[in-house]
Amino acid sequence: MASAPGVLKAATEVLVGERTFRADEAYARSLDDADPLGALRGEFLIPPSPTHADGRESLYLCGNSLGLQPRAARQAVLEELDDWARLGVEGHLGGKHPWLNYHELMRETGARLVGAQAGEVVMMNSLTVNLHLLMATFYRPTADRFRIIIEDDAFPSDSYAVDSQVRWHGRKPSETVVRLKPREGEDCLRTEDILGEIDRLGSSVALVMLGGVNYLTGEWFDMPAITRAGHRVGATVGWDLAHAAGNVPMSLHDWDVDFAAWCSYKYLNSGPGAVAGAFVHERHGRDTTLNRLAGWWGNDPSTRFDMRPGFVPREGADGWQLSNPPILSMAPVRVSLDIFDRATMPALRAKSVLLTGYLEYLLNRITNGGGRQLIEIITPGEEIRRGCQLSLAVSDRPKELHKELQKQGVICDFREPNVIRVAPAPLYNTFHEVWRFAEIVERVLGRH
Ligand SMILES: *Cc1c(COP(=O)(O)O)cnc(C)c1O
Repeated sequence: MASAPGVLKAATEVLVGERTFRADEAYARSLDDADPLGALRGEFLIPPSPTHADGRESLYLCGNSLGLQPRAARQAVLEELDDWARLGVEGHLGGKHPWLNYHELMRETGARLVGAQAGEVVMMNSLTVNLHLLMATFYRPTADRFRIIIEDDAFPSDSYAVDSQVRWHGRKPSETVVRLKPREGEDCLRTEDILGEIDRLGSSVALVMLGGVNYLTGEWFDMPAITRAGHRVGATVGWDLAHAAGNVPMSLHDWDVDFAAWCSYKYLNSGPGAVAGAFVHERHGRDTTLNRLAGWWGNDPSTRFDMRPGFVPREGADGWQLSNPPILSMAPVRVSLDIFDRATMPALRAKSVLLTGYLEYLLNRITNGGGRQLIEIITPGEEIRRGCQLSLAVSDRPKELHKELQKQGVICDFREPNVIRVAPAPLYNTFHEVWRFAEIVERVLGRH
């Protein structure tokens, strides 16, 4: 037995930080009633539970992996299909949203999402492609300055990208890529250790490139402090924001981040394989002498169609584009970013802190309820060090536990070797769902 049954039913109040949570169902409902963003859920399609035949909604806590479809996405794609049918090539200029400058429809919303100036952000390609394109410009190793610092548990694609960049420059990853490991017995990295390692390696560091929020542990790094530390030793600092964009508020411009890239299919709800984002700080964007892997869409639009061989980069992040954008895939990105823009990141963050704090409170209550400690939250407890995801390390038959949750209509994911990730997304998840999830966990653990 992992816990005494019915722990959640008790309606005692517990003070968490400065907040008072209660564990009863009525309290969960009251939080939803008081949620200023509650109506946004209605803008999303909630998948039915795959394990119930009665069509009931799944308990979807997987927005960190694939965000849900906004109702507006279908219409947005259909509009482009209609314009294509109606206008053919004339859709480039004559469509409802002319394709020629389609990416500019996301210029402002994309920038506001990550705390950038308009022109510092462009939606293009996919995440790993953007990391490579940006490293082509911003990772230029020399004999003395060549190291790249990443997290030891970086997402595999980031490790492959970094290693292959290093080999591309004729170097050995084993001598060039520094992988930051947590201290013995700890799951997350400490800011002081990251800063210490940057200082220690000093002028040999060419690039610091961490995930803003780590995909596995959910740890949100101290992005401004790490960026400053990288700059202090003369390094370039880039961020993979796959798990940060749409999850935590950022000020990429003010933090003086050099570059960043993120995908749009996780918290940004823009659909499987959606077109990704890229940030290039304005001070680099202005510098049209920066070397880059070029394509015609990065060329100055006023001469793009002169069809001359010489590349004249456009200022800003737009100058890193290669190809004319995939309009059918961009349409959901456009409507998704519009939703974030209406909700605003500060309001989403306020709800997110409460929603995830509530989840943590309920889970801790269950695991402290007695019996074997089967699950442990490895995500940092301080809200400033995490976004909405909590990562649960499971000590006994983790895959089976995950299957049990699935059987109860929960959709969350499992990452080897033993981590179940749950991410209540403030755009569409409710407090009552978090409560139901905790109740299911309590039940399932009780017989695990
Ligand atoms: C999701 C994710 C990826 C996926 O890369 P794609 O190029 O979009 O397939 C890469 N890196 C991180 C950190 C991720 O979380």
